[in-house]
Amino acid sequence: MADRFGRNHQSGKGNLSFNTLNLVRLGIEYGTALGQRAEPDIDGFIAALDRYMGVALRGLLHRYEIQARQPAKASDFMMREGVWEGGEELSPDDEVRDLLKHGTLSIGFIGLAECMRALYGRHHGENAEVYAAAYEIIARMREFCDEAADEYDLNISLFATPAEGLAGKFTKVGRLQFGAIPGITDREYYTNSFHIPVYYRLPAAKKIELEAPFHALCNAGAISYVELDGNARNNSAAFMRIVQFALAKDIGYFSVNHPIDRCPACGYEGIIGDECPSCGAEESEVPMSRIRRVTGYLTGDYKTRFNLAKQAEVRDRVKHA
Ligand SMILES: [Zn+2]
Repeated sequence: MADRFGRNHQSGKGNLSFNTLNLVRLGIEYGTALGQRAEPDIDGFIAALDRYMGVALRGLLHRYEIQARQPAKASDFMMREGVWEGGEELSPDDEVRDLLKHGTLSIGFIGLAECMRALYGRHHGENAEVYAAAYEIIARMREFCDEAADEYDLNISLFATPAEGLAGKFTKVGRLQFGAIPGITDREYYTNSFHIPVYYRLPAAKKIELEAPFHALCNAGAISYVELDGNARNNSAAFMRIVQFALAKDIGYFSVNHPIDRCPACGYEGIIGDECPSCGAEESEVPMSRIRRVTGYLTGDYKTRFNLAKQAEVRDRVKHA
């Protein structure tokens, strides 16, 4: 996508910074989950959403100003040797502003699913009307970003935050503040951006259909994935059909997750429980390698590389048939 200065390629620019909004908290405050009102206060919710997007935006602009005022010599490698496009023309004491303006400033969000439960008692995978309302919220966020981009003449965009850290951090704060509300704050993580919760059972095609329209709204980036069981590698035709369906629906970044375990004793690959079905090695003696995808990263030992919240999310994942 072209940036607002006409640059139409991906390299030589980057995402400068992003701030992420906690939609769950807004949902709880303006919803019905605490029994404080009979109907959700949607006008109050939207007003608060705009207010907090304003706070997020001011933070981004403040940081941008500090970054843009740096002289090119503060980082010769990044700013003068071709990592950022146009840097070769800068003198050591020139501001880097004209390079950085091609980067993006993004406002992200987490927990649309829990937010909808707090507002309407159901998430956007469970009900068509709730889905329409969820779409409206994210469309409003995109509109805010577009207006800000025009006002400040910068690439201000909407981001489906992967939230490796916030998934657990916001949830902990939410539980302290509001207690464990079923389906909202009672898990160890909030659901990634606009995703249908990983524990909700639905067909792969349905998950793709529901999530695809949000990709078009999130112009700073988004990912969707479906979970398949370990037999996916034996059914390449089904695998291809799912990928092609996702591409046809305009999913920007799509991934199919299927677990791969490997026994280091005999090299067996497949789904391994506590014991290798091939050589009988036990997990307690030989730690099995277990490859999983967590927010875009493939990891062989997600239990040490990711926080407890993301580990809990991996445990809760159901397969999409
Ligand atoms: Zn083995």
